[in-house]
Amino acid sequence: MAGTGTHYDAVIIGGGHNGLVCAAYLAAAGLKVVVLERRGVVGGAAVTEEFYPGFRNSVASYTVSLLNPKIIRDLELAANGLRIVERKSSNFLPTADGRYLMLGNGKTHSEVAKFSPKDAARLDEYAASLNRVADVLRGLVLETPPNVVEGGWRQALPELLRAGRTGKMLAKLPMAARRDLLALFATSAGDFLDGWFESDPIKAIYGFDGIVGNYASPYTPGTAYVLLHHVFGEVNGKKGAWGHAIGGMGAITQAMAKAAANRGADIRVNTAVREVIVEKGTAVGVVTDTGEAIRAKAIVSNLNPKLLYRQLIDAAELPADFRARIGRWRCGSGTFRMNVALSELPRFSALPDPGEHLTAGIILAPTLSYMERAYFDARLHGWSKQPIVELVIPSTLDDSLAPPDRHVASLFCQHVAPHLADGESWDNHRETVADLMIDTVNTYAPNFKAAVLGRQIMSPLDLERTFGLIDGDIFHGALTLDQLFSARPMLGHGNYRGPLRALYMCGSGTHPGGGVTGAPGHNAAREIIADFRHKRLS
Ligand SMILES: Cc1cc2nc3c(=O)[nH]c(=O)nc-3n(C[C@H](O)[C@H](O)[C@H](O)COP(=O)(O)OP(=O)(O)OC[C@H]3O[C@@H](n4cnc5c(N)ncnc54)[C@H](O)[C@@H]3O)c2cc1C
Repeated sequence: MAGTGTHYDAVIIGGGHNGLVCAAYLAAAGLKVVVLERRGVVGGAAVTEEFYPGFRNSVASYTVSLLNPKIIRDLELAANGLRIVERKSSNFLPTADGRYLMLGNGKTHSEVAKFSPKDAARLDEYAASLNRVADVLRGLVLETPPNVVEGGWRQALPELLRAGRTGKMLAKLPMAARRDLLALFATSAGDFLDGWFESDPIKAIYGFDGIVGNYASPYTPGTAYVLLHHVFGEVNGKKGAWGHAIGGMGAITQAMAKAAANRGADIRVNTAVREVIVEKGTAVGVVTDTGEAIRAKAIVSNLNPKLLYRQLIDAAELPADFRARIGRWRCGSGTFRMNVALSELPRFSALPDPGEHLTAGIILAPTLSYMERAYFDARLHGWSKQPIVELVIPSTLDDSLAPPDRHVASLFCQHVAPHLADGESWDNHRETVADLMIDTVNTYAPNFKAAVLGRQIMSPLDLERTFGLIDGDIFHGALTLDQLFSARPMLGHGNYRGPLRALYMCGSGTHPGGGVTGAPGHNAAREIIADFRHKRLS
C-alpha cells in the first residue's frame, strides 16, 4: 500500500455537492482537506455534460430550489459563477381531454378556476398553511437533529437541549399549523390534497411532488411529507419556487468546487476509494483503487450510507446490529431519467404555440389515480404503459446548452421498478422503456418524437453504475418517517457520526435528506469542526 506524503485533517470520500460543501466549510475553518471523487468530474448527481454532439444538459438532477441560501452566501457561489433564473411559468399540465392547467406568473387563480372556482378560492389558504409548516422545516434544515443516545445524563443532556430547541420552535406554531404538520407527516399526499381540492389537475400538479423520487402511490401514507420536502426551497428569495442554474446543475457544483479550492481544499478526480482503514474502532484513512493509502484525522463520507458501510468497511469492524440494519436501509426511488437533443420545440396539442409554458415543469400525469396506477403497474410489471413523465426544457431559459434554434429536454420519469422481477437486467429493457417515455410525450406533443436527434438514458441500474446511487435511489434512501431527522440514517446516528470513531457522513443519507440542498455537507462540517475544536480528533 503506497501512502501520500501529505498529512490531511480530513479526507472526504466523494465529490458530490455535499462533499464539496463540506470541504469548503472545513477548509474555511483552517483544516487541511482532500476530496476524492471516483468519476472524472465532481458534482455527483448534479453535473452538466455533453450527451450528444453540441448538446449539453444536467445529466441527473435538473432543477433547483432547495439549495440553501446561507450556503449560497457563505460559499459566494454567485461570485464563483452561479446564476439561477426563475421559470416564467412554474408548471404546465395538459389534461387527457385536451385542456391544460398552467401555474405561476400571476395566472394560477384564473387557471385553477377554469376547472373549479371553489378550488381557486382555496389556493391562498392552502399556500399559507403549507408555508407555515414548510417554515418549520426551513428552520430545521441547517440544524443537527437531536441524537437518540444511550448512556447517562452526560450524553443525554446536550441532546435534550437540542430537542428542547426543536420543541420550542414547534410550540410557537398555532394549533391549526400543528394539525397540518401532523397531517403532512403522517398522511398521504392524495388524502391531504383530496381534503383541500375537488378538481384533478391541481391535485395532480401538487401531488406530483409527493411521488418525486418516492416509489409509492400518491395515496401511500408518508407521501405528504415528500410533497412538503419539495416545497421548502426557494429561488432568489421566492419561497417554494423552482428555477434553473445557467449552464445546468453542473454550474452549481463547479462553483462549489471553486469555493472549496479557493479556501485551500485539494480535489482529486478519477480517484475511487475502495476501503476505509479502521484501527481499534477508529477510522484513520482510506485506500484508493490504485492502492494508495491516505491517512487523516477525520474521514468523511459523501456516499449512500449503505454503500459506505456495506462495501467500503470490513464487516468485522462494525457492530453486527448496526451492519444488519444498514443493510435494510430502504433505497430505490423508481426513477428513469433521459436527456434528449431536439431539432425543434415540442408543440403541445393543448397549447401549440411556443410560450412560457415551455419554461415550466411540464407534468404528464393528469390525475392522482393515473399516478397510483403507474405505481401499481410498475410493482407488477416493472413499468407502466402509461408512465409519469416530467418534461423540462432548460434551453428555453439558457442558450448555453444547445446550438441556436435547437433545444435540450430533461425527462424525469417516475415509477419504474428499481429492480426487475426474476433477476431481469435493466440493460435488456432500457431502450424499450426509453421509447415508451418518448411516445408518452408524443401523445401530448405530436411533433416530439420526430424532433429527437439524440438521447441519453439512465435506468435505475445506470444511475447506480454512474453515480453510485444504490438501487438508483436519487435521495440516497427513501424519505420515509423511519428514515428522517434523528433516524437518518439510523436512530443513534442522526448527528452525522456512525459507530466508528472519526468517521462522519455528509451526504443525502443524512438529515435533511436528498435534493441539491448542501445542508448535509454544511451540518456535517459544523459537527466535524466542533470535534476538532474540542480535541476529540487527533
Ligand atoms: C435522476 C435524478 C434527478 C434528480 N433531480 C433533482 C432535482 O431536479 N433537484 C434536486 O434538488 N435534486 C434532484 N435530485 C437529487 C439530488 O441530485 C441528490 O440528492 C444530490 O445531488 C445528492 O448529492 P450528494 O452530494 O449527497 O451525493 P451524490 O451526488 O450522490 O455524490 C456522491 C459522490 O460520491 C462519488 N463516489 C461514489 N462512490 C465513491 C467511491 N468509492 N470513491 C470516491 N467517490 C465515490 C460519486 O461519484 C458522487 O460524485 C435528483 C437526483 C437524480 C439522480
